[in-house]
Amino acid sequence: MSKPNDFLNDFHWLMDVLRSIDVGLVILDKEFRIEVWNSFMQNHSVLRPEDVLNQVIFEQFPELPEAWFRRKAQSVFDLQISAFTTWEQRPYLFRFQNYRPITSLADFMYQNCTLIPLKNATGDVEHICLIIYDVTEVAVNRIQIQAANAKLHELSRTDGLTSLLNRKTWEMELDEEYRRFSRYHHSTSLIMFDIDHFKAINDNYGHPAGDEVIRETARILKENLREIDIAGRYGGEEFAVVLVNTNAEGAQTVAERIRTQVAASTVFYEDLSMNYTISLGIAELSSSMSDKTQWIDCADKALYQAKHGGRNNSVIFLGS
Ligand code: GH3
Ligand code: MG
Ligand code: MG
Repeated sequence: MSKPNDFLNDFHWLMDVLRSIDVGLVILDKEFRIEVWNSFMQNHSVLRPEDVLNQVIFEQFPELPEAWFRRKAQSVFDLQISAFTTWEQRPYLFRFQNYRPITSLADFMYQNCTLIPLKNATGDVEHICLIIYDVTEVAVNRIQIQAANAKLHELSRTDGLTSLLNRKTWEMELDEEYRRFSRYHHSTSLIMFDIDHFKAINDNYGHPAGDEVIRETARILKENLREIDIAGRYGGEEFAVVLVNTNAEGAQTVAERIRTQVAASTVFYEDLSMNYTISLGIAELSSSMSDKTQWIDCADKALYQAKHGGRNNSVIFLGS
């Protein structure tokens, strides 16, 4: 049989446990005055219980989203059920500094929070308990994994030398444009181009210098495109662009702009300076083309004509 003051002792132990537990524990009354402020809250906020007890929490912590918190707390008072918020919805309720060295990537503590209704002896909820969990490690790991996945996804879609779409991804996007055309029939054009006498550039200046020429070509290409255009590195020194809502003449204007800029640019690599040109083939998509491969073939034929017409020029495909 336990005596009454055994119970009281147990209660004091319980209070000690709650005070020193490694989560934040705050008890609020209906006016949002702080009634319990445990050591976790004290250590992280640098406010002692005597600084905050009986104070309205919003006055002490202006960063607390008051309207949102009142709404959330009101439902806990009224419905007498707990409410939760995670760091993904709101990174924190209290802006506490993050001291954990391995998670130095975060300069504040990510928090999950729970609001629990506290019933008194008559079953009414006059107080709520707010529990704050430090989830910085989990959050930072998750954010790092998400960033790494996004980076991997990006790398798997692009070409390392130029950051243009790689051939596989570009062809998938070309296919999508081809399908869209069969539904909407808006003019869509394809430009394929190839650096002239690139073998000679490699032979005369070396492969790394050749790479620099490829990089410069990609840079000029990107400068001349709109957000919606789809540019890819099709092969070694071959590039391809789909111009949406553009007919063959419009595409040739773009092609000529790229061609003249390339011809006017000088690529510097170590103590070398190199001038070069490109040849371009243009094919507007038409309903007579049975698949995307045929579309590419047409642009390729025009490119072949541009090469045979003396290079450093652009040709529109006008039928085989
Ligand atoms: P043309 O004017 O007819 O296009 O002549 P070309 O010399 O450019 O001939 P071609 O297009 O066949 O040459 C492609 C060369 O590009 C062959 C290959 O060694 C080189 N190449 C392919 N990929 C790369 C690369 O990533 N970097 C470098 N530096 N060279 C590459
Ligand atoms: Mg080539
Ligand atoms: Mg070439």
